[in-house]
Amino acid sequence: MSCPDLILVVEDEPRLSRLVADYLKAAGYDTRIVDNGLDVMPAVRERAPALVLLDLMLPGQDGLAVCRELRAHGDTPVIMLTARVEEVDRLIGLESGADDYICKPFSPREVVARVRTVLRRWRATPPQAPAAEAGAARLQIDIDSHRARFDGQALDLTPVELRLLAALAAAPGRVFSRDQLLDRLHDDQRALSDRTVDSHVKNLRRKLEQACPGAEPIRSIYGVGYRFEPPPGWLAGG
Ligand code: CA
Repeated sequence: MSCPDLILVVEDEPRLSRLVADYLKAAGYDTRIVDNGLDVMPAVRERAPALVLLDLMLPGQDGLAVCRELRAHGDTPVIMLTARVEEVDRLIGLESGADDYICKPFSPREVVARVRTVLRRWRATPPQAPAAEAGAARLQIDIDSHRARFDGQALDLTPVELRLLAALAAAPGRVFSRDQLLDRLHDDQRALSDRTVDSHVKNLRRKLEQACPGAEPIRSIYGVGYRFEPPPGWLAGG
């Protein structure tokens, strides 16, 4: 039996969150309620939700900041719950990255219907993306938004892994020494050593292998360092 989708309900009004959670459960979803903005990311790391229902006004950290954090972490769909219609325009203007908005007061039935719609739409999109755009790279790296995707699916990389991948993929076929990679991974908060490069490469390889089983794009060059050899289609023009 497959595990039901988890919907994370982030709402600080207990009556409302319970009502929504009850309707979602009746519709066959697993639910978890969080009532403080600061508790969202820990909950997401514990078990990744299929979708997040996110109230805008929250104690701890507001919904907008939480949504940005979720976006930096991956592409879990987010439906924002807002108290006023006027806020929706503001939210869209701020490019929160939310997939949909529901205004309060809402009926719990409407919430369930919107959750279904957003999940269906979200699931329909990734497999179509590579086919729809002929020649599009399977591996997409966006340093500015701290995100990398493979075949449209978010790769859950740490900031250092993302920079490492970006550095290697920027010059496919080129051999990088560990020192050269260290220069590109430089992080003010932490001292990185040669050995750290190796462990980041190891983790990055594992995550790429998960995204594309059998692929070994990062080659070890004995006594020198590493080289990125992207399989066909991984990079634009490749
Ligand atoms: Ca609230």
